[in-house]
Amino acid sequence: MHRTHTCGELTISDLDKTVVLSGWVQKSRDLGGMTFIDVRDRYGVTQLVFDPADDETLRLQARALGREYVIKVTGRVIERESKNTKLSTGDIEIKVSSLDVLNAAKLPPFTIEDDTDGGDELRMKYRYLDLRRNPVRNNLVLRHRLAQETRKYLDAHHFLEVETPVLIKSTPEGARDFVVPSRMNSGEFYALPQSPQTFKQLLMVSGFDRYFQIVKCFRDEDLRADRQPEFTQIDCEMAFVEQEDIILLFEGLITHLFKVIKGVDFGAFPRMSYDQAMRLYGSDKPDIRFGMAFVELNDVLKGAGFPVFDNAELVVGFNAKACAPYTRKQLDALTDYVRRPQIGASGLVYLRYNEDGSLKSSVDKFYSAEQLSQWAQAFNAQPGDLLLVMAGDTDKVRKQLNELRLEVASQLGLRDKNTYAPLWVTDFPLLEWDDESGRYHAMHHPFTSPKTEDIPLLDEQPARVRANAYDLVINGTEVGGGSIRIHDRELQSLMFKHLGFTPEEAQKQFGFLLEAFTYGAPPHGGIAFGFDRLAAIFAGLESIRDVIAFPKNNAGRDVMIDSPSLIADEQLAELGIAIR
Ligand code: ASP
Repeated sequence: MHRTHTCGELTISDLDKTVVLSGWVQKSRDLGGMTFIDVRDRYGVTQLVFDPADDETLRLQARALGREYVIKVTGRVIERESKNTKLSTGDIEIKVSSLDVLNAAKLPPFTIEDDTDGGDELRMKYRYLDLRRNPVRNNLVLRHRLAQETRKYLDAHHFLEVETPVLIKSTPEGARDFVVPSRMNSGEFYALPQSPQTFKQLLMVSGFDRYFQIVKCFRDEDLRADRQPEFTQIDCEMAFVEQEDIILLFEGLITHLFKVIKGVDFGAFPRMSYDQAMRLYGSDKPDIRFGMAFVELNDVLKGAGFPVFDNAELVVGFNAKACAPYTRKQLDALTDYVRRPQIGASGLVYLRYNEDGSLKSSVDKFYSAEQLSQWAQAFNAQPGDLLLVMAGDTDKVRKQLNELRLEVASQLGLRDKNTYAPLWVTDFPLLEWDDESGRYHAMHHPFTSPKTEDIPLLDEQPARVRANAYDLVINGTEVGGGSIRIHDRELQSLMFKHLGFTPEEAQKQFGFLLEAFTYGAPPHGGIAFGFDRLAAIFAGLESIRDVIAFPKNNAGRDVMIDSPSLIADEQLAELGIAIR
């Protein structure tokens, strides 16, 4: 027998029991002639004591143990003299009578402690050791709980968990596909799913009614902190539903998760249309933990002879509440911030509403005192406020001001990770113009249904067509998105046409779906949540890598298994592939 108890289990109520424990040596120390060893497993740490008065040979054996040795001990539970209230087992220790070394261990390349000395790359190379550390493991425990609670909730609402294939054909979700060569069909390739989108729709045609899957998806995109080439979705689809049904049911899921895991209770989530979100926050995923909504100022600030404003399509700003004391240096730093190439603004104008009621702007020479006061009124400003204003082309300047709003909020400490602000963003545009390819793309994906009343606009004003699509945003992060789908062959064909597919191409790529729609497809819709992002938000982490057991680095590499890697010439030959 390897153990009678785990290392996190024994308490004062177990006094005098003879127990067997197994685990890893966390650390050892000598004190008052005795040797103490902390033995660790997933459940906790228990202190072992080796007393020379009992057995000096055993004590010397214990002293020789290195960090991370795997050991098994037998001993008696005794009360500790100096208790450790931080440990669940802190009232007791084990007076050891026998010790087995189950496996020796090399000195780990970094310390297996909550705060380690290991850098990122090293920890990733030895991820299996990193995962021994409490904070890392706890993130995965949290992830596990989120997955279990998700299953519980969806099961209770009659969702069936169905697995869909991984070797498929491209699902256009806007990213590049990962492809897998087929040996048996030389020259042909599978694509890995960017999501199970078409399969879950087919399950609705099959009458499954409610589907979900916690599923790996693959997208060959440039990586960022919240992106991995393979990531996990909570993927869902429902038949005979409208947008409102889906929103309410999944608001219920998120509410459930926050309640059981964080003890946070939300009321109904606020909602905002895409247009509103862009107008008020310059982003389709606004962080509404704080205000600072945009105020448009064309009427107030244009026509005073300041060319930057006069020539701009949009003059827009926000009120940085109580920031009037910002120094010249701080304001210059904000100007530099928006001028960085990543943001690309030409400049930043401010109006300072001083505590004494006076107004001071960076463009005073163009505006009278009266105009400055109208400017302040437009923001509903109070003494002590700082009004930050930018100008330019509407879409661009909104995005730039969004970056500034987030930066100022971060500086003011308004983006507290323990405050949660969920938000539904609805009524997304159906199509999005892409300069590079010179044509429209589906903003969500090609299976999203346009709003019925907007269908007549498709030919003449495609950009104005709104979709039955919605995103769930939490704290400025898009955690989920979905739509009501097209379930009619004609409309789906029309959609493909607008996306630039010839009828032959549409048939070739999506013939199976178009055909399925002719066999009685029910109205349906769904949503998918980025499970890694959701877990990162629950864990209060920026990077999704920390909630993934074996993540890839920013170059898409797994440095532990050294992948991707070259394959043997024979393997290439078998696949009929030549590397240039
Ligand atoms: N398949 C979509 C996505 O991955 C989600 C959905 O529409 O359900 O974003």
